[in-house]
Amino acid sequence: MNKYVDLFIDFDDTLYDTRGNSVIALGELFEQCQLSRYFSDPEVFYKAYWEANVSLWALYAKGEITRDFLIVERFRIPLSKGVGLQPTEAYCLDLSDKFLDLCSSKSGVIEGARELLAYLKGKGYRMHICSNGFHEVQYKKLRSSGLTDFFDTVILSEDAGANKPSKIFFDYALERTQANPSTTLMIGDNYSTDIEGAMNAGLDTLLFRRWDPSFIPPRPVTYVVDSLREIQSVL
Ligand SMILES: [Mg+2]
Repeated sequence: MNKYVDLFIDFDDTLYDTRGNSVIALGELFEQCQLSRYFSDPEVFYKAYWEANVSLWALYAKGEITRDFLIVERFRIPLSKGVGLQPTEAYCLDLSDKFLDLCSSKSGVIEGARELLAYLKGKGYRMHICSNGFHEVQYKKLRSSGLTDFFDTVILSEDAGANKPSKIFFDYALERTQANPSTTLMIGDNYSTDIEGAMNAGLDTLLFRRWDPSFIPPRPVTYVVDSLREIQSVL
């Protein structure tokens, strides 16, 4: 008999293929905004975007920058590499709005996500989204993914008043869901935000090693899997 009653599950890049959907959306944005006027090689723009995006999200999770700063900077930095382009804040915001619209309408989920959720639902787990994503975007993405009905609760950091990995986030999630930490498992793809945060809040953890199968967690994680399918053998 499994000891878990509640599952806290990260959404972006754990269930929803945020990376894959964003790659498509970024290409569409490049076309729509005719960025070829400034970039002879689109890869220069894409590469700079991804570098900026990853480092800005890490700072955002730590609470070192605001959402407004993130959404402007992740376009200002790559656009600054364009020839003859001096991106204003208004221009970056316009691109950001268009991009978020394009992204959040995509339905791509990680391989095995729907099957996993159906399996877990059938086993009787209570399931809760635990996400740092932005409010208005996250609900659209959830609808686009078609996964909404599997979840009992959606916990967003903007509601919690703090981002994962903060203990404030996890304490808020436990209170909202009335879950007991000793029978709750956190599942996520990001070691620093999902896993360490949950550990510090006293939860068991499952790391979905989506990005680097050779990654060895610095602190012991309850379970490590390399595909969503593998989760069915532990839950
Ligand atoms: Mg994630």
